[in-house]
Amino acid sequence: MASALAMICLDAVAADEVPPSARRVHDEALVLDTHLDTPANFRRPGWNIADNHEHEGDLSQVDLPRMKAGGLDGGFWVIYTAQGARDVDGKRAARDHGLDRLVSIHEMLAANAGEMELALTADDAERIGRAGKRVSFISMENAAPLASDPSLLTAYHRLGLRMLGITHVRNNDFGDSSTDPAGAEWNGLSPAGRHLVEEANRLGIVLDASHASDTVFDQLLTLSKAPIVLSHTSADALYDHARNIDDSRIRQLASKGGVIHVNAFGGYLIDIPKIPEREAAMDALGEKYGPENRLATDRVTAYLAERRAIEARYPVKRATFENYMAHLLHILKVAGVDHVGIGADWDGGGGVTGMEDVSALPRITDALLAAGYTEQDVRKIWSGNLLRVIREAQAIASAER
Ligand SMILES: [Zn+2]
Repeated sequence: MASALAMICLDAVAADEVPPSARRVHDEALVLDTHLDTPANFRRPGWNIADNHEHEGDLSQVDLPRMKAGGLDGGFWVIYTAQGARDVDGKRAARDHGLDRLVSIHEMLAANAGEMELALTADDAERIGRAGKRVSFISMENAAPLASDPSLLTAYHRLGLRMLGITHVRNNDFGDSSTDPAGAEWNGLSPAGRHLVEEANRLGIVLDASHASDTVFDQLLTLSKAPIVLSHTSADALYDHARNIDDSRIRQLASKGGVIHVNAFGGYLIDIPKIPEREAAMDALGEKYGPENRLATDRVTAYLAERRAIEARYPVKRATFENYMAHLLHILKVAGVDHVGIGADWDGGGGVTGMEDVSALPRITDALLAAGYTEQDVRKIWSGNLLRVIREAQAIASAER
């Protein structure tokens, strides 16, 4: 505990040490992140996005006070669904979960209407940002909620969905995941997946290849009429992992106008060997308390004490801010500055030593400027490239109507 507290102090100092000139550049940019898993906390008893939390206190990484402290203007709130069974009951459960999470996002926006606003277009994002409110796009990670009835996509679109990721860590009815232990099932996209791509193009929903297999990525690049994105992905060249992407594919993405948003998920940035005893103890802890995002605030202290005891007993290496920047700078070199953004997987496993939550985001701007990127480059990376893709996807959709 003492060492954890010492670490927080160091991090706080590091974030505060961002020079005023870099902080000004950061504050003047529209700062958006393409993968905010925070909706996972919206049904957490006693947890409210309007309150100030500490990562060390409840493991959360995004709330309104910390968004302001870190100059985060908004991004994509994710409708994430864990891949369950693919039988009739499993598909119904995924459908209901997706709808509930969509509703929870709208409830959060309604409860904070003075501070946040739903964004449907790139123009919306710029207008909302200028007004000093948080730009709230909606995305889906894992299309499983659509498996029982893919035509639900039009309803999701009407209710704000503007980005769609095909899979999560397992294959689904629409395509292959990069990490399914069973390997490829569809050789890329399934027939339903190909139809979903057409529908997303028709509606102007940006397609997201993060988590999908390389073959799905290749097929999306070929099939999609609009540029695609990777909403939270890092580089194979620095750590060869199925969830990361190789330089050749990064170049192809860029050549088609797409954008890769660099992930801060530690296990994809560096090799962190698994300790079986630690995994078993964490699994047992999970069974005792249930999912973290359902933990009532009055149970968090007891849960964290047990968790920290396991972490102290079986320590593992943690990725650092320097590891994150190494991926970001490499990807910038390979893709070019017009094809890179930030999607750090906040509240979904992202965060590294030195950048534990969104209050530390000015460090990225500072490090980019120190690496020689210009203020204009920084603006592209934080949102300009993303907004270009959203505009193109919507222009192509309306040209087709
Ligand atoms: Zn993810």
